[in-house]
Amino acid sequence: MNNNSNNNAVVVFSGGQDSTTCLFWALERFDKVIAVTFNYNQKHKLEIECAKNIAKELGVEHHILDMDLLNQLAPNALTRDDIKIEEGKDGELPSTFVEGRNMVFLTFAAILAKTKNASHIVTGVCETDFSGYPDCRDVFVKSLNVTANLAMDYDFVMHTPLMWLDKAQTWELADKYGKLEYVREKTLTCYNGIIGDGCGECPSCKLRQHGLETYLKQKEELNK
Ligand SMILES: [Zn+2]
Repeated sequence: MNNNSNNNAVVVFSGGQDSTTCLFWALERFDKVIAVTFNYNQKHKLEIECAKNIAKELGVEHHILDMDLLNQLAPNALTRDDIKIEEGKDGELPSTFVEGRNMVFLTFAAILAKTKNASHIVTGVCETDFSGYPDCRDVFVKSLNVTANLAMDYDFVMHTPLMWLDKAQTWELADKYGKLEYVREKTLTCYNGIIGDGCGECPSCKLRQHGLETYLKQKEELNK
């Protein structure tokens, strides 16, 4: 094995609440931080624009990788107008699910990381608000970490700072870095492509809002 200890990181970055919070988390820890965004022909091109703007504002090196092939393999509600966004019922996966997406993203992030001499990889996946995406589970990320190290003969460390946090705690983390308002205003999580507080109606907005309200209420109680 190479001994490639360095303090550089690649952050998987969509421009949403979770990955933007991860970007701030990484900026606190690593000497060099690089953001990578995957373009898989999302319906909302704004997502990519959002990511671009945030990376630029924060002065972070940003790469956008073309992952259009993912859409050819797994048509889903994030890329196709004729598929409605629906929450999964009775243990079914929601219609926004893209089979294997996180595995593909992390694998490509690792390839980029090695070429950039970065041994740390950061992703905002999380088991707490688990929608049933098997490749967002902790055990999967740990397993891919081992696989990537073997595949590229490199000592990657995959970090998942949000893995056990709920949405309220993710807001708390952003607030810890003094970035709650930034994340609230500049990120795009809404399935209907509305930046900041979003449409308020889609499953993603509901989760985000509920977390924010919960966190702000807790903070208020503490400050009393
Ligand atoms: Zn929404």
